[in-house]
Amino acid sequence: MSAHKTPGHGNRPIRAALIDVSGTIHVGRDAIPGAISACRRLRSERGVDLRVLYLTNTSRMSSAELLMTLRDAGFDDDALPGLESVMTSVGATRRYLLDNELRPFCLVGDDLLTSDLRDVVETTSTSTMDPNCVLVGLAPEKLDYANVNTAYRLLLKWKEEDDAVAAAAASASGGERRPIPIVPPSPRLIAVHRSTRHRDDDGHLSLGPGAYVSLLEGAVGSGLSARVIGKPSRDFYMAALSCLGEDLDPSEVVMVGDDIVGDVIGALDAGLGRAILVRTGKYVTGDELGRGGVVPTLTVDSIVEAVDYICSNSGLK
Ligand SMILES: [Mg+2]
Repeated sequence: MSAHKTPGHGNRPIRAALIDVSGTIHVGRDAIPGAISACRRLRSERGVDLRVLYLTNTSRMSSAELLMTLRDAGFDDDALPGLESVMTSVGATRRYLLDNELRPFCLVGDDLLTSDLRDVVETTSTSTMDPNCVLVGLAPEKLDYANVNTAYRLLLKWKEEDDAVAAAAASASGGERRPIPIVPPSPRLIAVHRSTRHRDDDGHLSLGPGAYVSLLEGAVGSGLSARVIGKPSRDFYMAALSCLGEDLDPSEVVMVGDDIVGDVIGALDAGLGRAILVRTGKYVTGDELGRGGVVPTLTVDSIVEAVDYICSNSGLK
């Protein structure tokens, strides 16, 4: 176990824990060794004064399928009570699309289109029929040349349209010294998340959707930047904190995960007091050194040691 101090958290007891799912408590159909007992331990502490929320970027399967996968892996109700204890980036994406009246061209799996995102796409489209944004998730069956090229062409078309609107607004301002307000164009490229890798069912690392998001940004150019919904988005962490309870101070919350960017940097950037990196899942040697000078509060072998740390720093007996 190697510790890296992160300024700011002081010695405040941990009152809540956000736990990543894929790569942290399971990989594919298998539980990480010791993870089921660790989750049960968290759940029993939760009954006292420790709030626990599972926070996942998983976009390859629906919430129902995710829960079934976890149940099959051995996470029973004592370990993980159900979907009410899980916040997903897909759920946040659904709310974002609805709130912003977005009609996505969907590079996400068909399973999601008939489940978690059904009420978004039923009123809009899964194809090129009048979309106004591109949505990218982890969808191996969708991320082929034809679909990615269709997304590219749509983004180019919208860029021309948005540029024309901006030019017209600039022209309308004429010689006026007073700047006219310009309504920013709606987000055109939306990423359920932008992780570049994940630990696949065969045990090897595989490409994540972030690689395709970067590809589209680079190909379209001109400052196109995806709106990222899941981790490491600050909004996603703020929503999780809100779900845990408005009375919590972020410094009293710890994040545990296997993604140095999404789980560790994202959590610390959002103001959480601590972020623990586990050496399972997508972890690769060197991740514990952090990014840009930001390092994990702690790096441990697995969720087992992370839960040990949480329980001994929660102020509980
Ligand atoms: Mg993970």
